Amino acid sequence: MNLDCRVGITLLAMTEIESRMTQTRIVIVGGGFGGFSVARRLVRSSVSNRIAVTIVDPSSASVYTPWLYEVASGGILDDSLRGDLVRATDIMLDRFSGIRFRRCAMQSIDPVMRNVVCADGSAIPYDICVLAVGSVSHDFGIPGAKQFATDLKRTSDALMIRTELSNIMQDTSAKQRRIVIAGAGANGTEFAAECASTIRALEKRGALSARSVEVMLIDSGNEPLKMLSPFLRKKTQARLRDLGVVLRMNTALANVAEHSVGLKRIVKGVPAEKIETVSCEYCVTALGVKMPEIVASLPFERHPKGRILVDDALRTLEYRDIFVLGDAAYVKEGKYPDPQTAQVAVEQSIVVARNIVAMVTKRPVLPYRQRASWDILIALGGKYAVGRALGVPIWGYTAYILRRFVDARYFFSVLPWRSAFIRVVKGVAVYGKNETP
Ligand SMILES: Cc1cc2nc3c(=O)[nH]c(=O)nc-3n(C[C@H](O)[C@H](O)[C@H](O)COP(=O)(O)OP(=O)(O)OC[C@H]3O[C@@H](n4cnc5c(N)ncnc54)[C@H](O)[C@@H]3O)c2cc1C
Repeated sequence: MNLDCRVGITLLAMTEIESRMTQTRIVIVGGGFGGFSVARRLVRSSVSNRIAVTIVDPSSASVYTPWLYEVASGGILDDSLRGDLVRATDIMLDRFSGIRFRRCAMQSIDPVMRNVVCADGSAIPYDICVLAVGSVSHDFGIPGAKQFATDLKRTSDALMIRTELSNIMQDTSAKQRRIVIAGAGANGTEFAAECASTIRALEKRGALSARSVEVMLIDSGNEPLKMLSPFLRKKTQARLRDLGVVLRMNTALANVAEHSVGLKRIVKGVPAEKIETVSCEYCVTALGVKMPEIVASLPFERHPKGRILVDDALRTLEYRDIFVLGDAAYVKEGKYPDPQTAQVAVEQSIVVARNIVAMVTKRPVLPYRQRASWDILIALGGKYAVGRALGVPIWGYTAYILRRFVDARYFFSVLPWRSAFIRVVKGVAVYGKNETP
């Protein structure tokens, strides 16, 4: 190698080191909907060469939770589909150029020294920190729930549920089998409908004896999907009835045991003393979410329900270099409590990414504008969904197609075009195997 060439390479290396030293360090804690979306927007932004983006997460995948119900009930009798099911939902965080990934859990934040401290004791220095740690499932301390029921939050939960369902379906004894799903909000209702739809599809193919597995959906309220209009709630009930889902409304889950659940009837808002024991092969809980314990130990003001209070630019009230978004954030001066949904996390990620670019370029940050109402689309087994799009009620096959379009839109917004396309096609193909019209 001649001298000129060596000098050239040395200069290049020095420029690289210098640019790294002057780069703004953005550390994103949590690589789920909000965190991953901020990271992807930043590395494609106008300041991409002036920033160093690191995601810190104990999980190596950003999970597309809206498809978890499909993983939990997909290809039940065909284990060769397992890999494809997971590949469609899990976006591996270490595959993106421009984003550094540290696989560890944040233990604390030192906002004075500007460090994110990990469970392994290491400290990651930041100039701007983004907290997007999401939420965890709430079991309300129901006896036996932790031990004998499964909640649907991560891909590993979905796979565990799928294995259990597969065992139940392959049990050839003649006895009536039952799956209890507690919580008739969006997640519980979607899963109950898909589970029943899978069972009906297997029965049609002669793989199961007719109606031999019952799906029971219970809730302390008087109807599933209370967030929908009366008209759409009626549609939902009709669809669930068609799929053979047994609805037990005004009923609270009192306890869970190995092969049974205890149920309490609720009369005029008050749970009865008496507990009815109902036998079941498996119980899945979808009772709601709460904040991860780590959030309570962080030095930020919190809403009474645990979410971190943020200003209208989505920064903590105490530190202007720490943003919070998604399930963990609560806008202090907001008109409404934002729902804890992926839609909100993604919408907020646009604002956070834009504000980080503004900070790097020394421009003023802009406010996040809340919405009074959000579109919602809930899959109800097979090629059927219900919901609201642009405020208009929508149901049936049209709603199902729109829901698939929303899935695709997310992947195209965060992934390179080719990999988004492959994921959408593969997802629709592998999940489509479950579906009967
Ligand atoms: C089964 C299911 C179905 C859903 N379906 C829909 C739907 O159809 N539409 C919709 O809008 N919403 C849906 N949601 C809600 C949606 O998933 C959440 O609202 C959304 O994921 C919140 O985004 P987030 O970025 O705040 O958190 P998440 O996406 O949950 O990401 C949080 C990340 O933080 C990481 N993390 C946690 N603790 C730490 C720590 N200490 N250190 C580092 N990292 C940490 C986690 O590993 C995770 O990767 C669904 C949720 C579930 C469970």
